[in-house]
Amino acid sequence: MMFHVKHSVATVLAWVLCLVVLPLPLVRFLDAGLVDAPQRILVTDLGLLAYVWWLVATALSTRPLWLERAIGLPSLYFLHGVLGVAALISAGLHVLFSTTFHALTRVTGLSAWYIELFTVLAAIVFLSGWITDRVGWMRRFRRWWEKVITHEVSVWIHRLNFVAIALILIHISSIPRVNRLTGFIIVLWIYSALSLGTYAWAKFVAPVAPSRQGTVVANTTLTPSTWQIGIALDSHARLPQPGDFYFISFHGVPHFSSVAHPFSVSSLDRAKHTVTFTIHASGDLTARMGDVPTGTSVLLEGPFGQFDKEIERHADSPLVLIGMGAGIAPLLGIAQTWAGKRQICVLDIVSRKADLYYARDFESLTGVEFRSHLHRVTAEDVRQMVNPDLLARGLFIVVGPAAGVIGTEYVLRNCGVARNRLCDERLTM
Ligand SMILES: Cc1cc2nc3c(=O)[nH]c(=O)nc-3n(C[C@H](O)[C@H](O)[C@H](O)COP(=O)(O)OP(=O)(O)OC[C@H]3O[C@@H](n4cnc5c(N)ncnc54)[C@H](O)[C@@H]3O)c2cc1C
Repeated sequence: MMFHVKHSVATVLAWVLCLVVLPLPLVRFLDAGLVDAPQRILVTDLGLLAYVWWLVATALSTRPLWLERAIGLPSLYFLHGVLGVAALISAGLHVLFSTTFHALTRVTGLSAWYIELFTVLAAIVFLSGWITDRVGWMRRFRRWWEKVITHEVSVWIHRLNFVAIALILIHISSIPRVNRLTGFIIVLWIYSALSLGTYAWAKFVAPVAPSRQGTVVANTTLTPSTWQIGIALDSHARLPQPGDFYFISFHGVPHFSSVAHPFSVSSLDRAKHTVTFTIHASGDLTARMGDVPTGTSVLLEGPFGQFDKEIERHADSPLVLIGMGAGIAPLLGIAQTWAGKRQICVLDIVSRKADLYYARDFESLTGVEFRSHLHRVTAEDVRQMVNPDLLARGLFIVVGPAAGVIGTEYVLRNCGVARNRLCDERLTM
């Protein structure tokens, strides 16, 4: 979901804050204390800039809910990724132009840079969709690789950046002309503690909050590879908006408890405080969803999502909801909420007829036109299924695997759908 990035005032402010405002005080502290040639100070600043960007990227990896609400998770992840790459480049220039006679300074600095290089490249290929969403052979390579090294292992490899942070702290502390700048060192440690503290709080303290806990109350098989999971939320939990998603970990289910996986809410029962998820087997863990017994306790992080805001923003537009595979999941809740209040057309694109498990639910909703299609759609298919008025005025919400979303949006653009009436969610990070 990386490249569906919202451009808003909040997004611009977040970028300026992370890229410019946050590093400034530390750079000023350093420059005020260092006595050196301007070029050498600039090279030192580049190293410091890289470190601060690395710390900010680490703090952003905790997906702060307040920031997600302001700019959306795709923008947040994009900013996290760009900060990582910018830090790598800035640190690379610092390494290239620095000289030092201290072995400890040299070894820790170089090791941190190699770790950064490795973790950033691995994240671009195995965690983000920057390349794999667009390049077919890279996507196939990643799928093959994930049979050997699972997504969870890639996440652990990414956490090597904490080793890099420790090495950089030793690196900076071992430079005598910097180490004697007490004010700078204190602020540096405050920055480091804030970033690592934010991470530790998000990983170890926040999850024990009662509002994050839930219990599996239903597990229904929709097809041999799709399950509908009902989860009762804690009475203090904030209820989701239609189309929102959570990161969920299932306690006591091997592997599912260690890394949280994102799943969209298909429907909400406000009276019972229960949310329903539709989970399709797409990898080793989701394939075992059928084995999750009722009574299993779960940890929920969220709700995240921006669809409700987009729908409110396009107050007069009819809704065209396009789901591919498991992408139909969040669209059911959206259709249930807006049925009778907006004109709605649903397109369910599947690879097998058996996957049209929500057809009846959509058809039973007042004023909802339901269409289904086997395999990818062409511009001609779209023109046949969606009337010209909807193509001209509708807000299109497209959800599915990244490659499918990109392809379908390309087709929609060819059918005359304006870019500002397209929003999507890609079911990969
Ligand atoms: C916003 C969002 C909403 C989603 N909603 C649904 C839904 O309603 N129903 C549904 O069936 N699927 C949904 N998915 C996809 C679902 O998260 C993945 O299919 C699932 O995490 C795969 O786990 P796995 O271990 O079985 O597969 P793996 O083989 O480990 O991974 C398969 C692919 O899933 C992605 N993935 C795996 N683990 C994670 C993770 N922790 N975080 C992000 N991506 C991951 C990776 O791109 C990976 O390439 C959603 C994804 C996103 C990003």
